[in-house]
Amino acid sequence: MISIIGAGPAGSYLAYLLARNGKEVALFEEHNTVGSPVQCTGIVTHSIEKFFRLKQEVIAKRLSKVIVVSKSNRIEANVDEIVMWRDLFDRLVAGMAQDEGAKLFLSHKFVGLNGNSIKVKDQKRNKVKEIKTDLIVGADGPYSAVAKAAGMDSGSRNYIGMQAKVRLKMDTSSFETYFGSDFPDFFGWCVPESEDTVRLGIGCFENAQEHFNRFLKSRTGKKEVLCWESGLIPVYNPKKAIQKNNIYLIGDAAAQTKATTGGGIIPSLKAAQTLCDCIANGKDYSKEFKRKSGRELLLHFRIRNTLNKFSDTDYDRLLSLMDQEKVRNILKKYDRDTPIPLVANLLLKEPRFLLFSKFAF
Ligand SMILES: Cc1cc2nc3c(=O)[nH]c(=O)nc-3n(C[C@H](O)[C@H](O)[C@H](O)COP(=O)(O)OP(=O)(O)OC[C@H]3O[C@@H](n4cnc5c(N)ncnc54)[C@H](O)[C@@H]3O)c2cc1C
Repeated sequence: MISIIGAGPAGSYLAYLLARNGKEVALFEEHNTVGSPVQCTGIVTHSIEKFFRLKQEVIAKRLSKVIVVSKSNRIEANVDEIVMWRDLFDRLVAGMAQDEGAKLFLSHKFVGLNGNSIKVKDQKRNKVKEIKTDLIVGADGPYSAVAKAAGMDSGSRNYIGMQAKVRLKMDTSSFETYFGSDFPDFFGWCVPESEDTVRLGIGCFENAQEHFNRFLKSRTGKKEVLCWESGLIPVYNPKKAIQKNNIYLIGDAAAQTKATTGGGIIPSLKAAQTLCDCIANGKDYSKEFKRKSGRELLLHFRIRNTLNKFSDTDYDRLLSLMDQEKVRNILKKYDRDTPIPLVANLLLKEPRFLLFSKFAF
């Protein structure tokens, strides 16, 4: 039996793939419903549809434009992105896993390991059970209890992703991103989810409340939020252990995110495909993950490290270079889920991007 801890996108999609492959799968989720609480903006590129078709009810908005704002510059570019209702998305994927025969145990919290058994607490009955299992997968997010129990929790930093739902009217076909010294080490975002509500957030390593309050006031003129949707965003670390004996980590538990944007949904679906292939065909997960996703995530990581050395003037210059027809055409053709051809083509068409490489060292 394969025990998967956590029914987020990583755990549920892996459960779906393994069950479809004829494996006996048990999926344990600590909450009494899948998908709550939401701690995510839910933006993905249209590449999500390479994995499976999204049901209409999962889609809050389709976005065709991004507005990128720096201290003294502002540009627009065409995009093809989807804003999802994250709770419905998580339920969709968990439902797919159950339809293939995976067993979902709600209100079951992983609390420890004991040899080849996992200890899970049935929260409704307040009882700890020991369950014998062949393989254990920690898909339990950035605070991964599985990683801690297996001694695999070292080696990655986390951004604080501070986000709230806020009352605001904006163009519902576009979203906004904000860069520069008011958003140290990451960026800010304002994403419509309905005609009068947006998801407004910032990521940073420290003083999150202060940065968020300033952004909220400057963008909306208000101080009130409707509800908080904050959480940790792990930064990809190529040296992080993702496998130890019969224990595997996936998704945020393995810090498999794009360091440029913090996006982890598509990388976790891709990692689930890799891990399913490794389990089904006896391949080495650490090596296969590096081969299939490692180079892309490393490129995101290097771009993030470069951006984090930018001054406000550097961001203004970067936006000016991006505001050209030839660059916009490339951004339309390649999205951030295919970063290697994206960066290669950007450098070919606009070699002045190389001027920023001085920050890479
Ligand atoms: C503010 C914010 C905004 C974001 N915006 C985006 C975005 O727009 N696009 C994008 O692609 N990514 C975004 N992300 C990142 C994205 O949310 C994660 O990368 C993604 O959710 C990872 O999926 P996962 O399945 O690995 O982990 P999670 O979604 O965290 O799922 C883990 C699951 O495990 C369960 N669990 C935890 N501990 C236990 C336990 N001990 N026992 C049993 N179950 C347990 C949890 O309840 C949860 O259901 C954002 C993150 C934050 C914080």
